[in-house]
Amino acid sequence: MPPVVDLSALNARLTDAAPRDILACAMATWPNCALSFSGAEDVFLLHLASRINPDIKIFTLDTGRLHPQTYQFIEQVRETYDVRIDMLCPDAERLQRLVSDKGLFSFYRDGHEECCGIRKVEPMRRHLAGFDAWITGLRRDQSPSRRELEIFEPDARFAGASGPLIKINPLANVTSRQLWEQIRMLEVPYNPLHDQGFASIGCEPCTRPTGPNQHEREGRWWWEEATLKECGLHKK
Ligand code: SF4
Repeated sequence: MPPVVDLSALNARLTDAAPRDILACAMATWPNCALSFSGAEDVFLLHLASRINPDIKIFTLDTGRLHPQTYQFIEQVRETYDVRIDMLCPDAERLQRLVSDKGLFSFYRDGHEECCGIRKVEPMRRHLAGFDAWITGLRRDQSPSRRELEIFEPDARFAGASGPLIKINPLANVTSRQLWEQIRMLEVPYNPLHDQGFASIGCEPCTRPTGPNQHEREGRWWWEEATLKECGLHKK
């Protein structure tokens, strides 16, 4: 059974803690936890976590629509850190039905929810059902919908192995600038798309570079409202 933990007390205790200390606490408190890696700057968490426990369970969503650079980067990370990365794939039958019925770019017409539901949400739901907690690279400065993010919070979207699932956001308080200072200082490998103006990286058809005065989420699902720019993995 997962431990019963007072999340409010934990949040209060670690509110100013460094990501490494939050990770260490999380991995000790919930040994059955998984680390989510998106192929973007959350590689910083993978860098830290693999040093605390080289056997940390790591997964990434292989939507089938990532940039070639992201696939190459995932492979580079696997080799650099000598870790196993579970690649979560969509259900073949549901995916085949979607693309046969609606084509390969239905999200430009219908919105991204249906495609993200099949390529991201459902594989994630299946995978997380085997864990008590999961670790994400979410930050408060990423989007309007993430401003209230807690470091430790109950996951309102997915269930875990024994029922409730805990979501841990060690970078909640970290700004994009601070994160990149750490990545450069520690010489952590990063996705080359970042050097081509991609502040946020997702699927190739739904991500584009942003300019210096644009918020990073403006490069995602740019044809939709800002408040709708979540892929369904982090809804409250
Ligand atoms: S980001 Fe775009 S391509 Fe990727 S799963 Fe969502 S809608 Fe589909």
